[in-house]
Amino acid sequence: MRDTDLFRMALGIEPPWVVKKSEFDAAAKRLDIHLDFTKGSRFACPQCGVAGCPAYDSEDKTWRHLKFFQHEAYLHARVPRVTCKGCGIKQVLVPWARPDSGFTLLFEALVMAMVQAMPVAVVARMIDEWDTRLWRVIHHYVEKARDRADHSDVTSVAAACPRAGQRPDPWDETASRRGHNYVSLFVDLVRRRVLFVAEGKDAGTVDAFAKDLAAHGGNPEAVAEVCIDMSPAFIPTGQARGLKAHGTAQSLPNAQITFDKFHVVKLINEAVDEVRRAEQKSHAELKKSRYLWLKNPRNLSERQRTQLDNLSASNLKTGRAYRIRLAFQELHLQPARNAEAFLRKWYWWATHSRLPPMIGTARMVKRHWNGILRWFHTKIANGILEAINSLVQAAKAKARGYRSTRNLKAIIYLIAGKLELALPT
Ligand SMILES: [Zn+2]
Repeated sequence: MRDTDLFRMALGIEPPWVVKKSEFDAAAKRLDIHLDFTKGSRFACPQCGVAGCPAYDSEDKTWRHLKFFQHEAYLHARVPRVTCKGCGIKQVLVPWARPDSGFTLLFEALVMAMVQAMPVAVVARMIDEWDTRLWRVIHHYVEKARDRADHSDVTSVAAACPRAGQRPDPWDETASRRGHNYVSLFVDLVRRRVLFVAEGKDAGTVDAFAKDLAAHGGNPEAVAEVCIDMSPAFIPTGQARGLKAHGTAQSLPNAQITFDKFHVVKLINEAVDEVRRAEQKSHAELKKSRYLWLKNPRNLSERQRTQLDNLSASNLKTGRAYRIRLAFQELHLQPARNAEAFLRKWYWWATHSRLPPMIGTARMVKRHWNGILRWFHTKIANGILEAINSLVQAAKAKARGYRSTRNLKAIIYLIAGKLELALPT
C-alpha cells in the first residue's frame, strides 16, 4: 500500500479529491499532506447546491490538522472556484474544513473539547496557536449552537448579576476600564442551563432576555416565576412596590417575582458593617472584627466565637445590628403560615433600632415585601444562583488572557448553556 492510499483512508478523502503526495520531515516533526482534485472534475455549487459545475480557477490553501503522533500535520490543496449558471463564480466547500477556517474540522473538534476543560490561553500554548484563532473557532460553534437552541419550554427563570457587589478582581478592572462592567445571566430553573447572557446590568437586560427568549421559540408571557436579586437591572429604583416590579413586569408580564434570599441577607450584612465602621471610631476593639459579624456563628472558629461573644456582650450598636441580621435569617426557617407575621415583627424591631443603616435596610425589605415572602411558595433561588456564580468564576478563569465580554459570554454559554454543539466527528 502506498502512503497516499493510507492517508486517503485515514482522512476519509473521497473523489473527486485525491491524496497527491505526503512530505515527512522528521527533524521538523512535521507532516504535510497534499490533496488535489482530478483534472476535469465537477463540483456542486456551494450556494444553490446544483451539481456539475466546472472549475473556473483555484486558490492554494493550508489547514492545520490533528497531530500524527508527535508530528504536526497540515493539509494543502488548491480549492477551486466554480462557475454556477445561477449564482456566478463561487468557491467550493471542501469536506474536511469550514470555509475560511485554517483548521480541519477534526482539529476544531479537538480545540472545542480542550477549551471546555481548561483556559483558552493554556490550550493555545499547548497546541502552539494564537488564542485569537481559537476564539474564532469557539465563537463559531457557540453561535451556531445558540442559533439552534430551543427555549420553548421555559417557564421559570432566575436572573442575577454575579459580579455585583463583589470586590473587583483584575479581570473586572480591565473590563471596567473598557466600559463593560457586568454581565447579567438568565437561567432556566427547570433545566438548569444558562439561557441568555446580557452585557451590562441596566434595566434593558430583562427586555433583551425576553426578545432572545422569543427568538428561540419561547414565550415571555409563559414565564410564570422569576427569581431575581434587587439590583436596578431588574427593577428600577423606586418602582419595586408590589408583586410585579417595573422592568420585569413589562418584559415578563405574567411572572411572579421571588427575591433571592441570599441577596437580601447580603444587603443586611452590608448595613451591619456600616454600623460597625461608624462605631469603631469610638470603640477601637471593633477594628478588624468585620468578618466576625459577617460570618454565620457556626462557621467561626472557637477563638473567633469567644471574641464575638465578648464584643456582643458589651452593649455595642454593632451587636444590636448583628442580632437584627441573625433574626432576619430566622425568617426562612419559619413555616409558611407564620412567615408574614414573623417578618412584620422583624420590621418593627429593625425600624425601631435607632440605627439608620438598619432602618434603611428594613425599608428596603418593606418595598420588596411580597417578593421576599413569595419564596415560601416557590422555594426557588438557593443552590442554582450560587452555582451560577461559581460557573462565572470558572468562565472568567477560562477566558483570562484574552479579555473581552464577548469571549466571556461565549465561555459561559459553552460551559453552562447545555448547548448541542454538533461538533464534527
Ligand atoms: Zn449555484
